[in-house]
Amino acid sequence: MNQTDTLVAGQGLAGSLLAMMLADRGIDVHVVAPGPEGSATAAAAGILSPFTGPRYQAPTRLPELLGTARSTYQALEDTLDCSLFTPQPIWRVLQAPEEIRQIKRRQDEHAAGAYLASPTHEGLPDGVTAPYGATCMRDGGHVALGRLQERVRRHLRAAGRLLDDTLAPDAVVFEGESTVRWKQWRARRIIFCDGAGAFSNPWWQHLPWRRSRGESLTIAAEAPRGLPEVIITGGKSLVPLEDGTHRLGATYERDQEVGQPTEAARQELLAALPRLLREPPPVRVLRGHAGIRPGSHPGPPFIGLHPEDGRIGILNGLGSRGTLLGPWHAARLADHIAFGVPLPADADVRQRRDLP
Ligand SMILES: Cc1cc2nc3c(=O)[nH]c(=O)nc-3n(C[C@H](O)[C@H](O)[C@H](O)COP(=O)(O)OP(=O)(O)OC[C@H]3O[C@@H](n4cnc5c(N)ncnc54)[C@H](O)[C@@H]3O)c2cc1C
Repeated sequence: MNQTDTLVAGQGLAGSLLAMMLADRGIDVHVVAPGPEGSATAAAAGILSPFTGPRYQAPTRLPELLGTARSTYQALEDTLDCSLFTPQPIWRVLQAPEEIRQIKRRQDEHAAGAYLASPTHEGLPDGVTAPYGATCMRDGGHVALGRLQERVRRHLRAAGRLLDDTLAPDAVVFEGESTVRWKQWRARRIIFCDGAGAFSNPWWQHLPWRRSRGESLTIAAEAPRGLPEVIITGGKSLVPLEDGTHRLGATYERDQEVGQPTEAARQELLAALPRLLREPPPVRVLRGHAGIRPGSHPGPPFIGLHPEDGRIGILNGLGSRGTLLGPWHAARLADHIAFGVPLPADADVRQRRDLP
């Protein structure tokens, strides 16, 4: 029988961050995870943005979330010896004049101008269509989520901490007061970071999940310098990647199974290009990606230990903002497990008030 302190089930963004943070804090951790295929992390565009959507919604603790996200990705770059985070301004093209009022509201709430500039055309990259102007969001950027997932996997494998498998909740056996067993492994706890797998995980059926399927495309312009070299959002998003290709995202569909990328989504995404750009170049679609955003809307992510048995835990519900929410919440859970630091009551599955 093998022994470890913590088994992490799943290795998307949540499991990757938690495993690395637990190891950093001296916890003996092993990760049970199949490959990245079908995960939300592999499908994501990787935009790290302080505000999203036409209402410019921002989560509470925005400065802390942004600060922890940046420092976490930068620290991981050192550990994994690769580039992961590209700080860059994000241009959001206003879709309607009403957005001007929303921007003003958010500026009043968040130390004016700190993250959100007033709408303008000045500085907007050539060729971007913006009849109502655009706002430049600061302190965000792009996280190479696919690379992060792949490098963490490689790192865990090299350290003998990766079990290429699926941890079925019904295969978990409880032994005595303080041990849990799965196959040939004994641990003090299992933390589920299983993304959309949680929708059928019996431990977490009481949580208010929101399932949102999404697709994105990796595209390449057929003309040199054909697509903008900064992030443009507004309805859909266009994200420049290090290798010269772009990620075009994303679609939103409620309550669907993940499945394969669809022709309908491909058409919907490509139709956005002429709305974002005055003269879009011909593009080649290199790959379609599909995933399920495991959301906890309207609350923060779910973190903590199960109210009925502290040997089972969770980090999930990152929704459509995993890059921003993941690092801070993973750090809180890692501190709780390693040092007993209390969890924030609004996210802790033992304390939050939005649960039955
Ligand atoms: C099209 C699209 C675009 C997006 N764009 C952005 C963006 O620009 N910015 C942003 O911040 N967020 C974005 N998101 C959201 C982001 O992808 C998620 O917030 C984040 O990746 C969720 O990570 P996760 O680890 O919780 O889930 P996942 O990445 O889905 O990982 C869960 C993993 O657990 C595995 N698993 C499931 N069950 C088990 C089990 N029993 N045992 C072991 N392993 C298991 C799964 O196979 C999977 O690999 C996007 C999502 C989509 C779909």
